[in-house]
Amino acid sequence: MKRTLYLKLLIGYAAFGILGFITIATFTSQLALNYIKRDTASNLYREANLLASNYASNYYRGNMTLEDVTAHFQAVSTYLDANIQVVSNNGKIMIHSGQESSANGIEDFDITVFGSSYYQTGTFFGTFPEETLSVFSPITINYKVRGYVLIHKPVRELAALKDGFLNISYMTLAVIFLCAFVVLGLFTYTVYIPIWKITRAAKDYSEGNFETQIDIHTNDEIGYLAASLNYMAAELSTLEEDQRKFIANVSHDFRSPLTSIKGYVEAIMDGTIPHEMQDKYLNIILFETERLNKLTQSMLELNKYGVKGTMLDITSFDINNTIKLVVQSFEGICQEKRISFELILTGETSFVCADMSKIQQVLYNLIDNAIKFSHPDSAITIETTEKNEKVFISVKDTGIGIPKESIKKIWERFYKTDLSRGKDKRGTGLGLAIVKEIISVHNENINVISTEGVGTEFIFTLPLKKE
Ligand code: ATP
Ligand code: MG
Repeated sequence: MKRTLYLKLLIGYAAFGILGFITIATFTSQLALNYIKRDTASNLYREANLLASNYASNYYRGNMTLEDVTAHFQAVSTYLDANIQVVSNNGKIMIHSGQESSANGIEDFDITVFGSSYYQTGTFFGTFPEETLSVFSPITINYKVRGYVLIHKPVRELAALKDGFLNISYMTLAVIFLCAFVVLGLFTYTVYIPIWKITRAAKDYSEGNFETQIDIHTNDEIGYLAASLNYMAAELSTLEEDQRKFIANVSHDFRSPLTSIKGYVEAIMDGTIPHEMQDKYLNIILFETERLNKLTQSMLELNKYGVKGTMLDITSFDINNTIKLVVQSFEGICQEKRISFELILTGETSFVCADMSKIQQVLYNLIDNAIKFSHPDSAITIETTEKNEKVFISVKDTGIGIPKESIKKIWERFYKTDLSRGKDKRGTGLGLAIVKEIISVHNENINVISTEGVGTEFIFTLPLKKE
């Protein structure tokens, strides 16, 4: 897998470092030097003013000797670590603090080159070999400018100060860069690696491999996402499993009757089955055809309920009457098996709100099962009870019962217990699945109580009609 996200982050991180370094080396450096120049110039200017208004003017007035002024200037010069001069209007150096080479005068001296500013940088009319910061203050006596106090400091010294500042900036940048590295590490651990795991799992899911589990258990959004995806994968895998089972069951249920039909038809055609025996086998063929017909119908019926929002034709009807009608339709079989019905119905009538034809189907399927799995000479009890605005309808037999381990599975499509397989070859195992769907779309419940060898009772609810 391409690690693009991570690569982008690393590139961003490196770019941050390089840009930070370039910014300090150019922009910050220039700003710092300008600041130091301005600050130094303003300090020097204050000193120049002081020297001009006190010592230099006293000297011009004759109140101080040249030696005294020079000595003082030298002291200040040492203190400021700068060069101090007193220059006359025409450029003659009157007093100086250091060992001036051009002790006599400054060629082309013109104070107007300073413009409106009190300082400038340069070689000061070629008197210094290197770039120098020069600050001036005029010496005014009786409103007349007699000369200037000038203080010079090499820019080199200021640049050294600036480099000191820059080193601090570089160190700060390095610390920030290190912190960002720690953050990057944390990000890798808490965000990037989990996302990478999720992406890898999602790829597996897209290839139909739902076994992959995402191993993230943090209590945050990524943790929740991983948990949701794990859940989704588990659901999808069971769905797939269910589908596979369903198709296997359908194919099996269709194949066995078709195989026997094909076998008997071939045998009749090639004369293996003699003419006088044909009726018997044609009956078997009819029986299998009916079974296939029932299977198809049940599947179509179930498919209808699979779609969400099945339309129900809700009416109010007397459930007691419906039970009686359904029971009547089983009279023939019951006489054959000598099975009797006992109806214990509350009240003369009991009106419920439901889809009548569907509830008839539920009763039909339940009673059909009760008869199929009952022993001859037994009774089936159908009872209704009204309670909390509901009618509880129970269909109870004393037949073969359902083994404990099968109780949960009887609602599944195509499920038949081993006990019933021998007794009922015609059954498809779809009857109870249909019952369950019908009761669910009514938002009602159905339960089963059964003991193997003793009997079975199915109980479902329906809403009573409100008076
Ligand atoms: P079909 O209803 O399509 O004819 P079926 O009766 O076998 O087939 P279901 O009605 O779905 O299918 O029932 C599923 C299984 O549950 C039955 O095969 C049987 O094993 C068990 N079962 C259902 N009702 C009873 C009962 N009253 N007594 C004992 N076992 C039952
Ligand atoms: Mg059935």
